Amino acid sequence: MKLLRSELISEFNHKLFDMSARDLPDRGTVFSDNSILCELSVKIVQFGFQISGELKVTPAYECVRCLESSSDQLTLPFKLWLTAIKEKPAEDQDLIYFPDSQDHFEMNEPIADIISLAEPINPVCNKRCKGLCPNCGTNLNQASCDCILDEQNNPWDALKNFKPE
Ligand SMILES: [Zn+2]
Ligand SMILES: [Zn+2]
Repeated sequence: MKLLRSELISEFNHKLFDMSARDLPDRGTVFSDNSILCELSVKIVQFGFQISGELKVTPAYECVRCLESSSDQLTLPFKLWLTAIKEKPAEDQDLIYFPDSQDHFEMNEPIADIISLAEPINPVCNKRCKGLCPNCGTNLNQASCDCILDEQNNPWDALKNFKPE
């Protein structure tokens, strides 16, 4: 998604953009719905432009317990700044170099980053997800199994027989 410099200079508020997840650079995110709705506002600030807004995206995450894919629409607010000043503090990720010679700004890179940063470290389909049976692999959310898990096989049980002298 390109924003022309002329669009930035004329500023705008709460403008809606439709885009496709297929146009984004690959950050490993899986989408269950490729349509992304983006609401943007642009403001001229002292050192460049401020772009703020919200993304509505539907990524699919694999549950770490049952391995099923689950998806919810997420609303991700964001704010970033474009500046033609090159000496920027390196650790400031939200400040993007935008030289005066560039006639447009490509939003796809920062948008892919925002979505990828929103991914949970250990996604679960549901807080109460029962996961898979460690013995037969049945998804315990959908069915039960007859496995009797052998407590004897618990490696920690060995500690119960341990008697210090
Ligand atoms: Zn699950
Ligand atoms: Zn089982």
